Amino acid sequence: MTAPRAPRPTVVLVYQRTSLRWVFDSALRAGIDLVLVPRPDESVAPDRLPPAVVDVLPLDVEGDPVKALAILRERYGSTPFDGITTLYDPAVPFVADVAEALGLPGLGSADARAVQDKRLMRQRLAEAGLNVPGFVVLDDQGVWDGDSGLTFPVVVKPANGFSSLGVTKADSAEQLGAVIEEVRQVCRTKLGRATGLIVEEYLDGPELAVESLAHRGEVTVLSIGYKGEPTGPYFEEGVYRAPAPLPPDVQDAVVREVVAAHSALGVTDGPAHTELRLRGGARPYLLELGARVGGSGVSHYIAEHVTGADLAGDALRIAAGLAPTSVTDSLTRSGSGSPTRLARATGAAANYIVPCGGSGRITTIHGLDELADDPRVDHVVQMLHPGDVVRPYPDFTGYPAFILSHHGSTEDAEEFHRSLESLIRIDYAPTGAAQ
Ligand code: ADP
Repeated sequence: MTAPRAPRPTVVLVYQRTSLRWVFDSALRAGIDLVLVPRPDESVAPDRLPPAVVDVLPLDVEGDPVKALAILRERYGSTPFDGITTLYDPAVPFVADVAEALGLPGLGSADARAVQDKRLMRQRLAEAGLNVPGFVVLDDQGVWDGDSGLTFPVVVKPANGFSSLGVTKADSAEQLGAVIEEVRQVCRTKLGRATGLIVEEYLDGPELAVESLAHRGEVTVLSIGYKGEPTGPYFEEGVYRAPAPLPPDVQDAVVREVVAAHSALGVTDGPAHTELRLRGGARPYLLELGARVGGSGVSHYIAEHVTGADLAGDALRIAAGLAPTSVTDSLTRSGSGSPTRLARATGAAANYIVPCGGSGRITTIHGLDELADDPRVDHVVQMLHPGDVVRPYPDFTGYPAFILSHHGSTEDAEEFHRSLESLIRIDYAPTGAAQ
């Protein structure tokens, strides 16, 4: 008689897009079964489930979180699962609430809110003595009194925004009132509600993205990548190339700042995607730390190709209460317990976010087909298609496509991105014109 097979650890994965399929491949490799809560705008056919998915559980997490929690509680009672997680930033607090309610591993509700609300985040970072620009907070009705004491230019952003939604630069005190009104308007139309705002001093310098994984309070920085040097007034994302070529002392300063931010924000277990700017080209200032694998899974791709780590797989293992198996001491140049654990880079990886480059109804997207046979390109994730309507900034519609590629060096990645700038082009017809 054969012994019954031990159940595999099971994690509820909230709002993961199935088009970023490598996240599901990672789950399979990590030995995790997934219960997928699909994105409301995505249907998942029961006979064509992504790898590792054993069940699909539709929930309206954003529209009715109370009911969604009740359904998960009921399911946990009848068919227990080991953890719950998400790569979708707005769902991070919900996931933390569920984990806390069911006694599963997770961030804790208070810490999840502190990483999501930019006002709380800035306060916690400032209290911990980290580099923070001057800032003031406004509640959802807050009236601007005209004198902030801030140095211009400043950036106005929704307290709970994501994907750069509404983030807008104001160059002078005279502009600020109008910019605040514009950001409030974007919040009302895109988030469907009024929200508090933060106004903070503009940080110049190159922008960096850092991928990391924490386990029991020990943070391993997997990669530090270059995100361009956006100057606003709106901050559409563009390129991501890792590893960023940085002098060793700047690299160490970035690692120290990111590790300190984990502890200031209470992120002791799980992945994080941190964005910073290097003021004066040298001094790291945190823009935000998201307690999740970034970019719906793009961060996993980058970390994997730069270091060999399985970030998504280990993030799922930590969500299930297990130890990571790929992000271990063998990846880093300093051993366990070191304050600056940075993984060795063994390759380079990049993400090119195709810019909208206009607005109207998309008629043709040129250049994507040519990339199918390029050996450097691993994934073309297309989000917008002919027929879709792109509204002009700041009314952000979404990104047309991601092009994920691996290279021998960051310089090669840069050259590849230059070639994409001339290869890829989107044609538009005025809105309302026939398709
Ligand atoms: P979101 O969570 O909506 O992405 P962020 O705070 O990350 O909001 O801001 C989005 C982008 O706006 C950043 O990646 C950066 O390019 C720019 N940005 C935000 N705050 C500042 C700032 N204080 N100084 C300079 N650029 C900023």
